[in-house]
Amino acid sequence: MRYISTRGQAPELGFEAVLLTGLANDGGLYVPAKLPVFSAEEIASWAGLGYAELAQKVILPFVEKDISADELKTMINATYDCFKHPAVAPLVQLGHNEWVMELFHGPTLSFKDFALQLLGRLVDYILAKRDQHLVIMGATSGDTGSAAIEGCRHSQRVKLFILHPHDRVSEVQRRQMTTLLGDNIYNIAVRGNFDDCQRMVKQSFADQSFLMGGQLGAVNSINWARIMAQIVYYFYAGIALGSPHRPVSFSVPTGNFGDIYAGYLACQMGLPITQLVIATNANDILHRCISNNQYAKQALVKTYSPSMDIMVSSNFERLLFDLYDRDGAALSQCMTRLSKDKVHALDPKRWHRARQLFDSCRVSDVETCDMIREVSQQYRYLLDPHSAIGVKAARQCRRNTQTPMITMATAHPVKFPAAVVKSGCQQPAMPDHMADLFEQPESYQVFDNDLTAVQSYMTTSVRSQ
Ligand SMILES: *Cc1c(COP(=O)(O)O)cnc(C)c1O
Repeated sequence: MRYISTRGQAPELGFEAVLLTGLANDGGLYVPAKLPVFSAEEIASWAGLGYAELAQKVILPFVEKDISADELKTMINATYDCFKHPAVAPLVQLGHNEWVMELFHGPTLSFKDFALQLLGRLVDYILAKRDQHLVIMGATSGDTGSAAIEGCRHSQRVKLFILHPHDRVSEVQRRQMTTLLGDNIYNIAVRGNFDDCQRMVKQSFADQSFLMGGQLGAVNSINWARIMAQIVYYFYAGIALGSPHRPVSFSVPTGNFGDIYAGYLACQMGLPITQLVIATNANDILHRCISNNQYAKQALVKTYSPSMDIMVSSNFERLLFDLYDRDGAALSQCMTRLSKDKVHALDPKRWHRARQLFDSCRVSDVETCDMIREVSQQYRYLLDPHSAIGVKAARQCRRNTQTPMITMATAHPVKFPAAVVKSGCQQPAMPDHMADLFEQPESYQVFDNDLTAVQSYMTTSVRSQ
């Protein structure tokens, strides 16, 4: 598979190179030059496959030439064997045609594990093949950090630096990162917000001289391999509920647009999806764009769903690329305007095209807690705040009740006890494998919002071993 940049100027790359790269060197994001498309017969033949078996079918075309089917199978099996539920991504029914897909049975209890546990193995495999080492730097609003650390902590070839905003992640989230010790893992708490952390990562990628010749790799949500791994569970859900004979719809708690973009790709690859609902919290740039065609940055708001507290959604560019008929030059112009103008509208024709598949909904903190309480009373089922936003948006936006509507439950409620308690619900018990989380020693360094200080810490740490 070859990969091209959304801005049309960067060199085409194969899977290996794309896996280790962040942004393309023209500022764009890598996407497959041509998506694989599966026929209805082929999808029908996958009925009854286990999660790992299905993952092999869906992922193989994206890595072909670089990774053999057998090697891929070994990595996929090892990845999903670490999940704590035999179905890996079980479906739970709430109301009539109303479903929740639990994506939080991985080692760190959020859907980020689906991609990052595999990514860690893929990166290690390729570094070993090339006999290379890599410094990985990433920013997290909470869940990516622990999933990436878990995915990389056994690697002999990776040093991982994870930046999180100091005092702005939940205590469970922080401890999940800072108690996972490995001598190749460095936790950096920045006195600032997630965007400050993200900016430091971007600037470090733009000028890597502080590493004295070392190479920087990315695990952030623009990493293509993460998107790729997330396509699988859309097929898994659809097939379980009758696809390809029966269409399905999804509601996805959305921040950087990575998860729901994977759903869009599943649709392009042959899964009959009627509707994709973008569920946002008060940080609603995508909701304003989809509902009113107004794309405008606003100040960041702190909410009960911190993993969705972002100002701009980086993966949205990948959807825009298709809406602009994969014309890199036209998209480049569009992206320049989006970043310069206060308010920007998409070309109406392209906006309407997006609206054929996408709907959107903004859900406030109060509505989030109401939804946690309501679903708990109706069905004795406890949602985390992100998933509650998804269910609320699904109910609000669904176009018809004949089509199964599946909300992606992106995190386990135990990660976000504040919202659960606020809703008047009982705090859930910590899963067994994390029972001693609050007793373990933590390791992290706090830094001011100062790039030079962070980089010199990185340089010293990389050289010290
Ligand atoms: C990361 C995250 C999201 C947002 O996913 P995107 O791919 O960034 O849109 C939603 N919920 C949880 C719990 C997350 O960790």
